[in-house]
Amino acid sequence: MVIALCIGSLASACGGGTPAKEASPVEWGYEGADAPENWGALSEEFAACADGMEQSPIDITGYQNREAAAIEFSYRDDASEIERHDKFLYVRFPPGSAMTIGERRFELMHAHAHAPSEHAVGGQGFASEMHLVHQSASGELAVVALLYRLGTPDPVIEEMLRSERGEDGATRRYMNINAADFVRRELGYFTYDGSLTTPPCSEGVSWFVMQSAATISQDQVDRLQTISGGPSNRRLQPIGTRSIVAVS
Ligand SMILES: [Zn+2]
Repeated sequence: MVIALCIGSLASACGGGTPAKEASPVEWGYEGADAPENWGALSEEFAACADGMEQSPIDITGYQNREAAAIEFSYRDDASEIERHDKFLYVRFPPGSAMTIGERRFELMHAHAHAPSEHAVGGQGFASEMHLVHQSASGELAVVALLYRLGTPDPVIEEMLRSERGEDGATRRYMNINAADFVRRELGYFTYDGSLTTPPCSEGVSWFVMQSAATISQDQVDRLQTISGGPSNRRLQPIGTRSIVAVS
């Protein structure tokens, strides 16, 4: 059920699919009547946004350090496409890029960036957060989050912004970057069980928030927010009884 809900909203939230066809007809946003605190009331499908007990994003704090499997990124270096849909730019990857963690393998579906960040670490927010959305063969979702502080421009985000032409609706452009460009040198991560951060806020999502942050310029943040029509972050959600594990 979780997966069906997720697939139905892939345009805005997770991965794969054809956004124009599968997008939820229910409008949602980040301010006014459509703001995140009202998402749960906008549609029955979005009930988890209000009632869910394992929601994302969270403030990453009080975590336990543990020895665990490293993430193995086997991302391909062939070109991807970019698509503007609704509030985000989506980088869509050709099949064959995947992350493996222990026995679990997840195929990379798409990437999109929020500004400011959605997750915080020790109470500190960031300027931006990239979500690399993956799906396993059985439909489980795993999202790798990359954090960005304000600083020098990020070349991958620059390429995303440059490839976009500002047209409304779904647009596709050849993009001169590929999945391998998203892999960072330091692979320490925080992991916990959460949800999509956009409606329908479906739970059962494995989060992997990378510990090392890159930089993004204020100009890039501004351009991302122009596309989203303003800030594109859901507020922090209660951690509840969940635990957070840090793997370095
Ligand atoms: Zn996201």
